[in-house]
Amino acid sequence: MRRSPSGSLPAMGMETAEVAPVLFAGHGSPMNAIEDNRWSRAVAELGRNLAKPRAVLAVSAHWYGRGLSVSAAERPSTIHDFGGFPEELFSVRYPAPGAPGLAERVAGLLGGGEVELSRDRGLDHGAWSVLVHLFPLADVPVVQLSVDATRDAASQVELGRRLSVLREEGVLLLASGNVTHNLGAAFSAMRTGDVRIPSWASGFDQAVRQALETRDRPGLEALLDSEQGRLAHPSPDHWFPLLVAYGASRDPDRLTFPVEGFDLGSLSMRSCLWS
Ligand code: ZN
Repeated sequence: MRRSPSGSLPAMGMETAEVAPVLFAGHGSPMNAIEDNRWSRAVAELGRNLAKPRAVLAVSAHWYGRGLSVSAAERPSTIHDFGGFPEELFSVRYPAPGAPGLAERVAGLLGGGEVELSRDRGLDHGAWSVLVHLFPLADVPVVQLSVDATRDAASQVELGRRLSVLREEGVLLLASGNVTHNLGAAFSAMRTGDVRIPSWASGFDQAVRQALETRDRPGLEALLDSEQGRLAHPSPDHWFPLLVAYGASRDPDRLTFPVEGFDLGSLSMRSCLWS
């Protein structure tokens, strides 16, 4: 994404090396990968408006475990890490190339020997259900970084801060989770058809929005330590990617919310773009 050093400088004579944005995408149901709905259309529109990055580093809620791993396959497979969905969803492939060199760079930035390079890890649906709409040609190399369950909120933000240098190298950080994610509440809404938005979900969503807009890092890191926060995230797997994304954002970035609203009653589909 950087301009070449000669021949393409703008009229002002200043180099305008473009810094890649940071995107947190609320992915919601895997069905969003194949459905034409307000969520999938909004992500597709966002993709049309973004400059094509050199590569994507995806941090998905669905690669959640102890320690950090980074995918280093030349050709990552498409992992269908769910059950009980239509066959059409299992036939989706996202054939973007990997970027083993970028994987090694990520490992180096995050502490070298402590980060496992996984040569056979593919892309999970947290990554590809967004990417099929964001970059439908699958022509941007993708590397995935796992979410480390053993780190606290402040440490998740710190990971993002260490990765932010990749933005200057044209690497788009795509963090994929949900601002609220209580599967019990979502299944209950599906079962009963009651899709009213609970006050804990709308309250938490707004608290997140405010903390992001005011760049209140301590406030953001403490948000799960409340009754509302515990309801919004019985487990932090869909929350931590947002903290990594926030860590990679910077004061001068412009923050926008390309997608807002709720699905299945309590599931916030808010997406956040720092550019
Ligand atoms: Zn998910």
